[in-house]
Amino acid sequence: MAKKGIVAIVGRPNVGKSSLFNRVIREKKSIVEDIPGVTRDRIYGDAEWLTREFMVIDTGGITLKDQVFAKEVKIQAEIAMQEADVIVFVLNFKEGLTNEDKMVARILYKTHKPIILAVNKYDKKGSENDMFEFMSLGLGNPIMISSTHGIGIGDLLDGIVHQLPKYEVPAKNDIPKIAIIGKPNVGKSSLINSLVGEERMIVSDIAGTTLDSVDTPIQYNNKKYVLIDTAGIRKKGKIYEGIEKYSFLRSLGSINHADVVVLMVDGTQTITDQDTNIGGLAFEERKPIIIVVNKWDLVQNKEKAILQKEEEIRSYFKYLQYAKILFISAHDKTRIGKIYEAVDSINEALKKKIKTSVFNEILNRAQLLNPAPDHNGGRLKIYYGSQVEAYLPTFVMFVNNPSYVHFSYKRFLENQIRLQFGFEGVPITLLFRERK
Ligand code: GDP
Ligand code: GDP
Repeated sequence: MAKKGIVAIVGRPNVGKSSLFNRVIREKKSIVEDIPGVTRDRIYGDAEWLTREFMVIDTGGITLKDQVFAKEVKIQAEIAMQEADVIVFVLNFKEGLTNEDKMVARILYKTHKPIILAVNKYDKKGSENDMFEFMSLGLGNPIMISSTHGIGIGDLLDGIVHQLPKYEVPAKNDIPKIAIIGKPNVGKSSLINSLVGEERMIVSDIAGTTLDSVDTPIQYNNKKYVLIDTAGIRKKGKIYEGIEKYSFLRSLGSINHADVVVLMVDGTQTITDQDTNIGGLAFEERKPIIIVVNKWDLVQNKEKAILQKEEEIRSYFKYLQYAKILFISAHDKTRIGKIYEAVDSINEALKKKIKTSVFNEILNRAQLLNPAPDHNGGRLKIYYGSQVEAYLPTFVMFVNNPSYVHFSYKRFLENQIRLQFGFEGVPITLLFRERK
């Protein structure tokens, strides 16, 4: 799947970062946000302009307790430099250029990533001269905007989209890219060490893929895989991992690149909000996912514990019912091979094509077994359906009226499809169209 591209908004407090953020993100009601304990104050969101989709981060939302301003802004800028493909540096027209702005600029000078200057609170168009002061930063010509009045936002978005990395062409030989995510200390680097250390590293480059230096190609049973962001997890990532929102963003970046996400939790601890927040990201990005419970070597009475843990995970990650759960020890290297097997079976599931005749048999049987209830003033009738071409398994169903589809009936249908055809680990999409 194509990488989306990440845009980070930086700047000192009060210049209008979050106003700009809110203006550019697509309002998307998240299912995950309805789950208690899941962070509400979002610092990332999806945006779209001229058919290009990208993700926006408001670094102003990454706050640190008891830190002086200088330290906080420095960290925000550094995070932007590490995570983003494009950095939008916001300034305040009403206040002009300040020493604090210059300090942020000095940090940003070190990056090779594209920087776009946005001078905000430019509520009324003036003359060209208004730009001059800000040009002295040496970061190019600013784009004059007003986040609250909606001035210049189109120009800014044009500039962003222009600087976004080109879409990756999916590799023909489709080597699965695996991201390992999870809160700090669950054992991500230990797992990477086990996966990489055990198998011979492939040195030769893989045709048709662009690998970041931090990605590691590996091989298992003569099959190739790529582990994403290994250097980040092993070294760089540790710097700020204590900052919860930051480990969040790290995960976001890796998830964005991945074909398969391995969500790791610590088997010796109960599930926390930080676990579910990170899992929620993978769900929202609609990625195939494997839940890995680590440190299982430390757990007594394993058989009973497995049942308890599975129940706990299913109740905390309600939206990830389709994910397989594996119990491993990264430390002892036990059951590590199961991860590869799960990745392989996800790959198979992604390629699976269900015959239309078979699919319709299942649809008919499902409706006989459990006819749709009345909803929105009518009863759903599905006439026929079929799987359509898409990256994720996607089924279109032709019905009498799509507004009669109740959430729980959709879930029932999804369960029936999974019961028949598997698709373990993979999100599936059901679309309802009116038969004309
Ligand atoms: P942040 O701290 O950089 O995230 O800044 P905020 O987005 O919270 O904005 C700080 C203040 O500036 C708020 O009171 C906003 O309403 C105001 N503000 C933001 N953008 C504009 C703008 O374009 N014009 C004007 N006049 N006020 C703005
Ligand atoms: P990360 O922050 O998620 O990358 O976690 P690390 O890989 O750094 O591991 C955190 C701590 O847990 C380290 O002290 C590891 O030695 C320990 N650890 C990791 N995996 C296992 C495991 O499978 N069993 C045990 N007993 N300890 C583990």
